[in-house]
Amino acid sequence: MTNKNFDTCASFYLEGGAFMGRLVRLNTVLKTILKNHQYPQNVSSALAETTALAAVCSSMLKFNGLFTLQIQGNGPVSLLVTDVTADGKIRSCAKFDEKKLEQAKTLRKTQDIFEEVPHLVGGGYMALTVDEQNGQPPYQGVVDLQGKTLTELALRYFDKSEQIPTLLKLFIKRPEGESRSYMAGGIILQKIPLKGGKKSDITPEKINQTWEDAAAFIESLKEDEMLDANLSLKQILTRLFHQNNLEISGVKNFEFGCRCSREKLQKTLSGFSPAEIEEMCDNEGNIEATCHFCSQKYSFKKTELVNEQKNLQ
Ligand SMILES: [Zn+2]
Repeated sequence: MTNKNFDTCASFYLEGGAFMGRLVRLNTVLKTILKNHQYPQNVSSALAETTALAAVCSSMLKFNGLFTLQIQGNGPVSLLVTDVTADGKIRSCAKFDEKKLEQAKTLRKTQDIFEEVPHLVGGGYMALTVDEQNGQPPYQGVVDLQGKTLTELALRYFDKSEQIPTLLKLFIKRPEGESRSYMAGGIILQKIPLKGGKKSDITPEKINQTWEDAAAFIESLKEDEMLDANLSLKQILTRLFHQNNLEISGVKNFEFGCRCSREKLQKTLSGFSPAEIEEMCDNEGNIEATCHFCSQKYSFKKTELVNEQKNLQ
């Protein structure tokens, strides 16, 4: 069952626009993504949290093309990637090594099924990319992976790469029992420069005080409250910021969406040399390919790909 309080993002301002924030909660999007993949539980959990972070970060940006969050490392999970279109279509996938996942657990003598993202990913980097898909080179910010939680990794990104004062907290609720599914979300608040030297009646002291208060409020926000299906985004924000001139400026919805197609895949495969295509074929001269994001299977005849190659020449 879908809940109207989830798969959505509220944009808000505090103190007449001195602070800009977003509150995001996901449920059905995660359910669809994870059902497509059937990953081990700890990989699913890491991907759910990464998807929530991508939804939060993308919602802070103005773009018309595609936003991508990619975490790449040398650990048991070597890749977590989510992309989000301007109209809120999200897809995610992970790459992992099952043997390494088991070995890591044995080494740490842990019985925990779930581990923090940095544990699973190891050393590497996180990249946020905005590709406007208009022929211009994409914008990309990168940071190395340092921190104990995904929230810490992301805060380091905003500090090192964007250099914007940022408060952020991510939440995840894992399924208990058969009927439940993942819920995840996040809240972000950034201090933004006041527009064009506009006269403001907010003193620097007031700005600092609001920032300190907001940090304490966000820190005190508990998972049970943040992911309470009976609370609307507005109710949560009002509880947190009712004394800070809260202004909710809009709501945006997210849904799962994959952009793969037979045509696109055919084009990609046709880029391989005839020898490579030969190698990919089964005994009957067919190539089976599966989309990494949605697990949709596509089947091609060798002749289709070779013919396409001729057309390209
Ligand atoms: Zn797909």
